[in-house]
Amino acid sequence: MKVFFHDDFYQDYSGDPASEPGRMEAIVKSIRNMVEFIPIIPATHPEISLAHTESHIEHVRQEGLYDISALAAGGAIMAATEGLNVPAFALIRPPGHHASANSSWGFCYFNNMAIALYVLKQKGLIETAFVLDFDLHHGDGNINILGREPWVSIHNPEEHDREKYIRNTGQLLSGIKTDIIGISAGFDHHIKDWGGLLSTDDYYTMGTMVKKASERNAGGCFAILEGGYNHEVLGQNVKALLEGLGG
Ligand SMILES: [Zn+2]
Repeated sequence: MKVFFHDDFYQDYSGDPASEPGRMEAIVKSIRNMVEFIPIIPATHPEISLAHTESHIEHVRQEGLYDISALAAGGAIMAATEGLNVPAFALIRPPGHHASANSSWGFCYFNNMAIALYVLKQKGLIETAFVLDFDLHHGDGNINILGREPWVSIHNPEEHDREKYIRNTGQLLSGIKTDIIGISAGFDHHIKDWGGLLSTDDYYTMGTMVKKASERNAGGCFAILEGGYNHEVLGQNVKALLEGLGG
């Protein structure tokens, strides 16, 4: 599987938990033997403008976070494009699902998922898209931007029971019809992370469910990194998802 990555993501760009040193290293170490790393080209200003206002883009620039955020968005675009043919992953940060058109919070600056889907849509590569956001936190940025688009459906699982969470997500995916499935892949709902619910196997299971759904639709799928803060388990959880998506 191709994993879109850039060495600049090793930087601690903002001092928040998403930016913490060692986080990228933990993931790279776990997956390096099973993937091919492809260097990322940053998203362009016109691409970022598909999802964000000029004042928000300028605000991110003034905070000194434009370059790293544009690089993350570029990785999402590349993974989504590759995902039209075979499953792909963007190993990126800062995350994006708390970024709205004109504001952002929760360690996010640009909405990587929204930018990627808008680029595919603008190029005529997709008509419809489905976003599965299994991060612990509700992806309010994804919803604020993409939720108003009639061609996008978004699902944030909300079950507090692990088995129900997986079962309901599987049922939903088995019934969808879409050109591409994008996963906002946050791993902070893991039993040993902030949310304390999901097992490592659950990420494998959700990966297989997404892959099957995309095959049934003759469509694509891809995943982009959102949250996930326990470096001791983050790598194995990403690996499990990629094995599910690629298997
Ligand atoms: Zn989160």
